[in-house]
Amino acid sequence: MTRFVLGLTGGIGMGKSTTAQMFADEGIPVWDADSTVHRLYSAGGAAVAPLSEVFPRAVVNGSIDRSVLKAEIAADPSVLKRLEGIVHPLVAQDRMAFLAGSEADIVLLDIPLLFEGTSADLCDGVAVVSVPQAVQRARVLARGTMTEADLDRILANQMPDAEKRARATWVIDTSTLDGAREKVRAILSEIRASLKHA
Ligand code: ADP
Repeated sequence: MTRFVLGLTGGIGMGKSTTAQMFADEGIPVWDADSTVHRLYSAGGAAVAPLSEVFPRAVVNGSIDRSVLKAEIAADPSVLKRLEGIVHPLVAQDRMAFLAGSEADIVLLDIPLLFEGTSADLCDGVAVVSVPQAVQRARVLARGTMTEADLDRILANQMPDAEKRARATWVIDTSTLDGAREKVRAILSEIRASLKHA
């Protein structure tokens, strides 16, 4: 193996974004699924034209307004499948361009629903960020952007943390920043050693 594709995932509030930044700080190129979707939805993004044909009301000032899509999905759950049918191929294309364009020996794919979809197939190993559930809930609710009921709904749609950890190559405990950074460095050393011996 000449290059290691490392996946990073974890439930909401588990510290995925913070940990992805730690990998970036160590010089690892990072592809971020969430920010890719934001870019595709923003003015001039590749998803705007195809989505405007199916969901004309979702285009506001030249970009896709997520709240309109959310309302359409709430009114008709079959909308989600149609939406994914348009957006997923564009996201996959962007990810392929990232992988093709990067010559680094280790690259990171930061994907919230990595195990829920098929992205794990692209990864040589997956790191799962995790903290005890009480810490997760406290972190998310501290943001002040959602109620407990909102959080419960989101968690019900995500694979349980225990199952993610069971599938992980590495688990990164994000209880402390120092502990997480230490684990990030240990994972990278392990991968580098395995690449050397490959
Ligand atoms: P996610 O991207 O998984 O939703 P974030 O990275 O945004 O999570 O982190 C959620 C919250 O937890 C933030 O308030 C962040 O500061 C805190 N956090 C993340 N990682 C750590 C860590 N290793 N130690 C302490 N707090 C952390």
